[in-house]
Amino acid sequence: MAEEVNAPVGREVVLTPEEVKIMRKNWGKKFVEQKDGTFKCRACGETILAVRVAHPIWDGPFPCSGSGRCWYELVPYCPKCDEKPGPHGLPIAPKGSYHNP
Ligand SMILES: [Zn+2]
Repeated sequence: MAEEVNAPVGREVVLTPEEVKIMRKNWGKKFVEQKDGTFKCRACGETILAVRVAHPIWDGPFPCSGSGRCWYELVPYCPKCDEKPGPHGLPIAPKGSYHNP
């Protein structure tokens, strides 16, 4: 599972691209797609909102290092059941980088 590291900002969880894919699959269990292309919460029926989250890409050869690039994704959440995700996502370590050799 995701690796936890001591980053300058504190303890951080580093995700691999595979783990990002698994997270995306889990969204499919939680949200139900409607005919018009929107999603509703499986638990409460509320329309799903999304927030743009920036994941720093840690593709450097040293701990917590990267080129400064970010990977942006739209993270869906239920306004009733979930807390609104923050704009700063977890770092992602691509294959071949320090955290994902
Ligand atoms: Zn809900």
